Amino acid sequence: MEPILRIDRVSLSFGGVKAVNKVSLNVYPGQILGLIGPNGAGKSTLFNIITGLYKPSEGRIFFKGRDITGEKPHKITALGISRTFQNIRLLMDRTVFENILVAFHRQCQYSLVQTFFITRTFKQAERQVKERALQLLDSFGLASTADTLVEELPQGIQRRIEIVRAVATGADLIFLDEPAAGLNAIETKELIEVIKRLNREGKTIILIEHDMKLVKEVCEEIAVLHYGQLLRSGTFDTIRSDPLVIQAYLGR
Ligand code: ADP
Ligand code: MG
Repeated sequence: MEPILRIDRVSLSFGGVKAVNKVSLNVYPGQILGLIGPNGAGKSTLFNIITGLYKPSEGRIFFKGRDITGEKPHKITALGISRTFQNIRLLMDRTVFENILVAFHRQCQYSLVQTFFITRTFKQAERQVKERALQLLDSFGLASTADTLVEELPQGIQRRIEIVRAVATGADLIFLDEPAAGLNAIETKELIEVIKRLNREGKTIILIEHDMKLVKEVCEEIAVLHYGQLLRSGTFDTIRSDPLVIQAYLGR
């Protein structure tokens, strides 16, 4: 099977720090890959490079066989990659619905134009987009929050909104950066169900997470970063019993 994402010897330094150092990694369609490692290992930086926020100093990134190295973030989103952030990045003083609508519009620009030519009424096309956004919120149990300002909602709901926003862009590949951070046990359980559901619906997922119970529950494959380098990759059980990984991360 062809990888959906191929990372080939990617590096980036900040000053003298090699945040990401010649990382190569394949991600296959339908996979949930866990990306773990100590704080400062380069996990978020790797996400930032793949999603176009930073340009790598060397190496290439291929998405569905296409070289996306150095492309702008909006272009990469349009191609089908979206993400959540370690520190939640939503429009806090806007409603949940508005946050989802913004993401939806990115996906719908083309279909909106198409609908316009079919229906000849822009208003009708706009209404369809809104309906789809509401349906999406509803399917994630968020319909009752649609008109609430994001800042008024608990962190668990905010993290879920960010995931739904990533889905609303129409992405096939979704990056989640520490989605369980700040969540209580019940919220974490709900998060696990959301991740499993996205995967059932065909999304490929890369998950940065420190909660090893969560990682064990959802990830079949794990990659371990350490000082910017890929230390190991493999199944949860091989990773968990690997002396190098225990020494670098799990044993601490
Ligand atoms: P992780 O997500 O694994 O905790 P990061 O990718 O956030 O690690 O950070 C990797 C290294 O790169 C750290 O040493 C961090 O201080 C550094 N770093 C990350 N982003 C920046 C930045 N924008 N400017 C300077 N240094 C950065
Ligand atoms: Mg991070």
